[in-house]
Amino acid sequence: MCLFCKIINKEIPSEIILEDENFIAFHDINPKAPVHILAIPKSHVNSFNDVSSDMMAGMTIFIQNIAKEVDIDKSGYRVITNIGDNGGQEVKHLHFHVLGGAKLAWTHLSDSNPKAFL
Ligand code: AMP
Repeated sequence: MCLFCKIINKEIPSEIILEDENFIAFHDINPKAPVHILAIPKSHVNSFNDVSSDMMAGMTIFIQNIAKEVDIDKSGYRVITNIGDNGGQEVKHLHFHVLGGAKLAWTHLSDSNPKAFL
């Protein structure tokens, strides 16, 4: 069973922000912003590559509700999902990073010099 499935099953503790029948949101253990929450589906999906449009419809509303719950909906925030090796995905269970609480930098898009590939 994957790490996030264990969090869903409460076999691994997490600080839950919001939960419903289909999704759960909890604080990232290694926050990269003052607010850093992970939103995941309860049924296992490996990555964004495999998610259905139906699930994304529910996830969209769920993420909007997270932003309201932690009061970053007006100040602004960023939603990221990493996919595969080049995307930097470490946990192979679909998750959306919800980052906010401060003006976010837009750096480190690549570990390499992007112009080197042009
Ligand atoms: P990614 O690199 O996109 O796969 O993101 C995985 C995220 O999961 C990282 O930001 C980790 O800090 C986070 N993470 C790993 N283990 C835990 C955990 N037990 N509880 C909360 N967040 C975790």
